Amino acid sequence: MKAVFNYIKDVRDAAKYMWQGLEVTFDHMRRRPVTIQYPYEKLIPSERYRGRIHYEFDKCIACEVCVRVCPINLPVVDWVMNKQTKKKELRNYSIDFGACIFCGNCVEYCPTNCLAMTEEYELSTFDRHSLNFDNVALGRLPTSVTSDPSVRAMRELAYLPKGEMDPHEVPDNKPRIGAR
Ligand code: SF4
Ligand code: SF4
Repeated sequence: MKAVFNYIKDVRDAAKYMWQGLEVTFDHMRRRPVTIQYPYEKLIPSERYRGRIHYEFDKCIACEVCVRVCPINLPVVDWVMNKQTKKKELRNYSIDFGACIFCGNCVEYCPTNCLAMTEEYELSTFDRHSLNFDNVALGRLPTSVTSDPSVRAMRELAYLPKGEMDPHEVPDNKPRIGAR
């Protein structure tokens, strides 16, 4: 008799735990998706987003302040001294984005403002050495989500209609505020 009671108790517990799991499933079935369809939809980075660094070769005076303020002394400023003019001549400048932590110190302290953070965040490569950008690669204008006609630009919280902060009970046909 005791074995029968134990069996019934186990069945009841199993049903209870299954229901607890299904409660989570049912809860998520009522929510709108919080993902965006990357790469067809992309979030617009915030104004102060710290993405790939842009560099203007012509404005650089090879002072190496960017190297000194960098936590890992990352920027490589390749210059030679012109003995006639007694001035530095800049040859090359590079930053390895495989090691950069995008802290923005170099941009903050550059005396000529030749460095700038951009909103470019798609930096994945097959080879990590490709992330070592020279002055030509650093000088390329950044890509922008909003000016790319092939993607749908979305703002943050793009999946929710205006004024909604909770994804529950939001009908699927309600327009998304983040859509542009
Ligand atoms: S701090 Fe600015 S001007 Fe000085 S070397 Fe670095 S990038 Fe060039
Ligand atoms: S963003 Fe920071 S880590 Fe990257 S190069 Fe500039 S100072 Fe160095």
